[in-house]
Amino acid sequence: MTTTIRLLAIGIAVTQTQLVGAQEPVDRAAIARIREEGFQRSQVMTFAQYMTDVLGPRVTGSPGLRRAEQWAKTTMTRLGLTNVVIEPWGEHGVGWTNVYTSLHLLEPTYQPVIGYPLAFTPGTSGKVTGEARIVSIATEADFARYRGKLSGAIVLATPPRPVGQQFTPDATRFTADELRALQRTTIGAPTGIDSVEYRWDVVNKTYVPVGSSATSGGVSPTERLAFFKSENVGAVLQAAPGRDGTVFVDGRPGSRQDRSYRGVMGSPPMVAVAAEHYNRIYRVTAQGIPARMEIEIRNALDTSITTADNVTGEITGGDLKDQVVMLGGHFDSWHAATGATDDAAGVAVALEAMRILKTIGVKPRRTIRVALWSYEEGGVVGSRAYVERHFGSAAKPAPDYDRLAAYFNVDNGAGRIRGIYLHGNERARPIFEAWLAPFADLEATTITINNAFGVDALAFDQAGLPGFQFIQDPLDYDSRTHHSNMDVFDRLPADDMRRNAVILASMVYLASMRDQPLPREGR
Ligand SMILES: [Zn+2]
Repeated sequence: MTTTIRLLAIGIAVTQTQLVGAQEPVDRAAIARIREEGFQRSQVMTFAQYMTDVLGPRVTGSPGLRRAEQWAKTTMTRLGLTNVVIEPWGEHGVGWTNVYTSLHLLEPTYQPVIGYPLAFTPGTSGKVTGEARIVSIATEADFARYRGKLSGAIVLATPPRPVGQQFTPDATRFTADELRALQRTTIGAPTGIDSVEYRWDVVNKTYVPVGSSATSGGVSPTERLAFFKSENVGAVLQAAPGRDGTVFVDGRPGSRQDRSYRGVMGSPPMVAVAAEHYNRIYRVTAQGIPARMEIEIRNALDTSITTADNVTGEITGGDLKDQVVMLGGHFDSWHAATGATDDAAGVAVALEAMRILKTIGVKPRRTIRVALWSYEEGGVVGSRAYVERHFGSAAKPAPDYDRLAAYFNVDNGAGRIRGIYLHGNERARPIFEAWLAPFADLEATTITINNAFGVDALAFDQAGLPGFQFIQDPLDYDSRTHHSNMDVFDRLPADDMRRNAVILASMVYLASMRDQPLPREGR
């Protein structure tokens, strides 16, 4: 009863302050303490360095990610968090780890070749030596052309990938004009990028623009792979996106749908090769000059655990402890490097935000829960499973649906926070205007109605929950690091990382103390 009266009183107070146009309250003293701890005694780079250099790649389902989850659990416990759990979210598939890669051009002259296997492909049958063969399969008729002729071949399966000079910088920061353009947006798609709305395609397990289908005509990538497998090729090479030694590589085509042991073994060995190296091999082969290669790939397949997990930990709240403010990033990565910007950076920032709040001894009203998601790389899968289980959706709410006050996501690399995406939630704008005002000196006050797409905030937003992603400087995320062999610790600027942890800790703290949860769209 007392609670009801109190809530009513708050409701009236809020209405009155809104009528007189009063500011959203901001605890500047708390923010000052967060800034001091986060700027002068930051541990964010210590977290990031261990995750990347020591724990290494964290492919969902792999023993590498499971080892990292144990580290996260130990770290959260050491920070004094409570209810630290590694929570399985469902079936994932086989644990895949690349344990050896060796790639060489032997003739016409020797050259070591830069390349990486695609995740969820098998290794080669030992050391394979053979001539490169250009193979182009576009239609069913092409199968007949090649049938019986490819045994042991090193298949060049894609055209060369032209790379000229680059006259633009690898890394950039948002300009004032670009930030103003973001701020000026009036209508963002409900869920999508700019004006293109996306939906989850349940059959193909991927996001597709509304009104389109994920499948296209002709020979599908999986049919092509099945053919190469049945022809017993030595390996399938493809020109990788990227330049100057950078190789972008993720999973086998079809691995979103099937990451089982059988699915992996039904594919030929596949290697993404640095474009400039691939192009040389291709040009020589096209001239009729033998390009002899030697390739050995070993990939370990672990079938002992087929589920995948999220890791969560909490700072228990006070009078509103049944409500929760969440923050997080995704713990899984691709395999060619150590997943530094995607997304050890976000995880380190989230852990550091929790460390700051614990260290300065805040007593939040709501419970603050950090979450490290897995298989974000497969279409925000771990976070969507978590939201479905714990919160449900507006259409199908779970018991905790009304208990989530806000979710803040960090996953667009290590670039400094410049503001926040509202994800269409116009009612959150005045709140964030007030909360970001103390960070004007850090140029972090841009607010856009737009969505950030393909990040875990989407899982919350699509369920009608108040989930937000920060606007971050792009740096070299798209040009150089994310999903590449150069996504390494060296690409994380310490100053940006420190700022991000301070801003995240402040936002989470303010959300935990606010009289009301953050407003939701359509309510
Ligand atoms: Zn990614």
